[in-house]
Amino acid sequence: MTHADPLRTRAEAFLEDVSREYHAAHAGHKSGADLQPIYERHKDAFGDEAWADAVAQWREATPGSEEHRSARMIVDWLLESRVGRAMAPLEEKEFAWEAAAVVRLPDGTEEPYARVAITIANTRDTDARRALDDARAKLVLAEFAPMRRERMAREKGLIEDARLVDGYTPTLEALSGTSISALRAECEQFLRDTQSMWDDVLPEFLKRVLGIAPGDATRADAVALMRAPEFDGAFPADAMETEVRRHVTDMGISPDAHGRVRFDTAERPGKRARAFCSPVQIPDEVHLVIRPHGGQNDWQTLMHELGHALHFANMSRELPFEFRWLGDNSITEGYAMLFDHRLQDRGWLLRYSRLEKSDLPRYLRSAGFEELQFLRRYCAKLIYETQIYDGRVPWSALPDLYVETLNGATGFRYQASDAFLDVDPRFYAARYLRAWQLQALLNESLIGRFDADWWRNPRTGPYLVGELFGWGQRELAEEQAQRVTGKRLSFAPLVRAIEQMLG
Ligand SMILES: [Zn+2]
Repeated sequence: MTHADPLRTRAEAFLEDVSREYHAAHAGHKSGADLQPIYERHKDAFGDEAWADAVAQWREATPGSEEHRSARMIVDWLLESRVGRAMAPLEEKEFAWEAAAVVRLPDGTEEPYARVAITIANTRDTDARRALDDARAKLVLAEFAPMRRERMAREKGLIEDARLVDGYTPTLEALSGTSISALRAECEQFLRDTQSMWDDVLPEFLKRVLGIAPGDATRADAVALMRAPEFDGAFPADAMETEVRRHVTDMGISPDAHGRVRFDTAERPGKRARAFCSPVQIPDEVHLVIRPHGGQNDWQTLMHELGHALHFANMSRELPFEFRWLGDNSITEGYAMLFDHRLQDRGWLLRYSRLEKSDLPRYLRSAGFEELQFLRRYCAKLIYETQIYDGRVPWSALPDLYVETLNGATGFRYQASDAFLDVDPRFYAARYLRAWQLQALLNESLIGRFDADWWRNPRTGPYLVGELFGWGQRELAEEQAQRVTGKRLSFAPLVRAIEQMLG
C-alpha cells in the first residue's frame, strides 16, 4: 500500500469536504449542514469496493507491522462511516424528536426538551429541579428511549454482521488496537481505591453548595452542583483569548501555528455558543471557533479546543493520511486535556487567570472534587457499557443495571430512563479515560523535564511540537506513554493530582 493510493486520496478528500461543511454550519456561515450531496459525491470513498480492499489489506498484513497498523485504522474508520451512513435515517428521526419535544410538568409549565438539561443545571431550587428532571425522565422513557434502544440494536447488529472478528466488543478491540476489558478492570480498581476519598468529600459539597444530605442526592443535583458559578468572575470573557495566547507564546511556540490555526471570535447569527475546533486541512487549515462569554467553563473549553487545534496544525505534513486524520483519539483528547487541566494548576491560574491567591485553596478543593466525580462517573459508564454488549444481561434488565452501577460509583440517584441515552457510541468513554491518564502522566513528565512551570518554559513548546504533536495519531496512547515517559498508563497520577487538590 503506497501513501498515495486511491483509497487514501478519496478518503482524505471526503473527510475534508465533510469537515468544511460542518465548520460552515456550526460557525454560522450557512444555515444547516448539507451532507447528503457530499456523501453522494464521495460514495466511492466508503463504498463496497473500498471496504473489500481495506479489509483484504488488513488481513494480509503481518500483525505488528506498519502496514497492519495503517490498514487497521482505515478499516476502523470505514466501518464507522458505513454503519453511520446506514443509521442516518434513525439519527435524523432522533434529531427531529429532540428539536420538537416539550417537557410538561404536572402544574402545566412547559420546557422545550432541547433546553431542559441547561435549565435543570441552572435551577437552584432543589424541589423544582427534581420535578423538572422527573418530567423529563417520564417523557424520555415513553418516547425517546425506545428510539435509542432500536438504534443501538441496529448498530450492534451491523458491526457483528461485518464478520471481522466474532462479537461486538472483540471487533472494536481489534480495530482500536486496545483492550476494553483491561481498562474496565482498571476502572473497577480505581473505584475501590478512591471510595473512601469520595465518601469523605461528597457530603461536604452537597451540604455546602446545595444544602442536601448524602443519600438523598440525584443526578440532577450533581449537574447543578458542577455548575456552581462561584469563581466565574476570575475568568473574564475579554481576557480569555489574550491570556491563552500569552500562555502558548510563553511556551515558545506560535499560538496560532503561524496562521494555520484561524481564531474566529466574531459574533455571527447561527454560531454555536460552545467553542469548537474544525480541522479542514491537516495541518494547514484548522479553525478554532469561539464566542467568548467568560467563566471557568468557557476558559476550560477554549484551552481544550486549543490543545486539539495545536495538535492538528503541528502534525508533520509527511505523515500518511491515516496518521493525520484517523488513529487513537485518546492522543488528541489527551493533548486537549493537558491544556484544559491547566485550570487545575496553581501556578498557571495565578499567572493567567484573575484568581486571588487567597481563593486558591478553596478553588482547587472544588476542582479536585469535580475531577473525582467525573472520573468515577466515567469509570462507571465504561463498566456499564461493556455489559450492554457482552450478552450476559438481557436488554430489559439494562435500566436497573445502569442505575445500580452509576449510583454505586457516584452516590447520586440516576434515572432508569437514561440507560440507553447516557451511552457513548463505540466505547468512546474508553478514549476519554485513556486520554485522562495520558495527560496526567505527560504533566508529571513535563514537570520532570521542564519544572513545575513547564507551561511558561520556552523550551516546552518546541518539545511538544517535535516529540508529540508532530507525530499525529500514529501511536496508541499506551505506546506514546511508553515512548515519552517510559511508564505505563494508569490512574495513579490522577489519584496523586486529586489528593493534592483536595489538600
Ligand atoms: Zn476533545
